[in-house]
Amino acid sequence: MIHTPYISIDLAKIEHNAHAIVVLCAQQGVDVTGVTKVTCGNPQVAKAMLRGGVVSLADSRLENIRRMRQAGIATDYLLLREPALSRADEVVAYADASVNSELLTLQALSAAARRQGKIHRVIIMVDLGDLREGLWPDEVPAFLSAAANLEGIQITGLGSNLSCFAGVVPDIHNMQQLVALTRQARLGSQHPLRIVSGINSSGLPLIASNQLPEGINHARIGEAILLGRETIQRHPWPGTYQDAFTLHAEIVEVKEKPSLPRGDCAQDAFGHYPVFEDLGIRKRALLNLGREDVDIEGMTPMLENVKIIGASSGYLLVDVTEAQQPLQVGDILSFSLNYAALLAAMTSEYVYKLPLNT
Ligand SMILES: *Cc1c(COP(=O)(O)O)cnc(C)c1O
Repeated sequence: MIHTPYISIDLAKIEHNAHAIVVLCAQQGVDVTGVTKVTCGNPQVAKAMLRGGVVSLADSRLENIRRMRQAGIATDYLLLREPALSRADEVVAYADASVNSELLTLQALSAAARRQGKIHRVIIMVDLGDLREGLWPDEVPAFLSAAANLEGIQITGLGSNLSCFAGVVPDIHNMQQLVALTRQARLGSQHPLRIVSGINSSGLPLIASNQLPEGINHARIGEAILLGRETIQRHPWPGTYQDAFTLHAEIVEVKEKPSLPRGDCAQDAFGHYPVFEDLGIRKRALLNLGREDVDIEGMTPMLENVKIIGASSGYLLVDVTEAQQPLQVGDILSFSLNYAALLAAMTSEYVYKLPLNT
């Protein structure tokens, strides 16, 4: 018996979505690495991505990579978050490759690789304007010279991440800049620099409109595979499912109550001063799910005319006055999720994970 709350994970839909993205990217000579971080490196999700044709897996957390490895998933693992200096040994032990932009960290990875008798591959990140990780473009040549002779480190390419912090969109110009930087870096380098890792899910419109510059040959894709959306406008991506994940919670109380609180109001459980509108007496349901498990702004009830009113750490409050069917204690309500809500639900240990179509 599955406990509530739970999140159902349709693995056949994830495999289908992965395949659709892999086929699209292959037409432009772009390999796809499946990004598992939103699911905490869920091994079944990872396997579904691989069945769909992704060439390798990437995650931002070592714990997730370790989980997938321990589940026996043999593939190449890329650590997507720049490593913490203090964890260089674990990075080399669990990840085959990592993204980097700091010489001190590369030196620590080099020492760890020598100790472990391994070659650790790195992708050097370049900041093309989104202002998250990476070297500023004009710093790249000097950085690569300084990093050229680190034993145990192989620099396999350059990468860039857009649309994450500032929302800067990948376009012909910034992608061309990454290709040009890599070409220049290859001249006279001992390192292969084969990979030009230009895009994440926000780059799909560029690929689909045939505008991705030649030379970009690698994509790191999470959301488009898992939620079937590109990430510029969050439009559904053609030929993919948006509903591979569904969150389900159980009604633990249903009561008719006034819509205005009774008594003097001060702060709520999270230090806010809530505002209420008088809608008369409403039928309200309490569900066994809360802010500890989900981002309530990112959930949409699947039953029509059910409205989320709010949440505390452990309860979700919904207005079910106009629900098309009578609801009672023990009934289960289902919700679709956006990226933030999926991330929280997959991370919550109180939300059971139910893989379907395994
Ligand atoms: C999360 C992440 C990705 C995947 O982004 P999606 O929008 O989910 O495709 C790619 N690259 C890096 C560096 C990331 O941190």
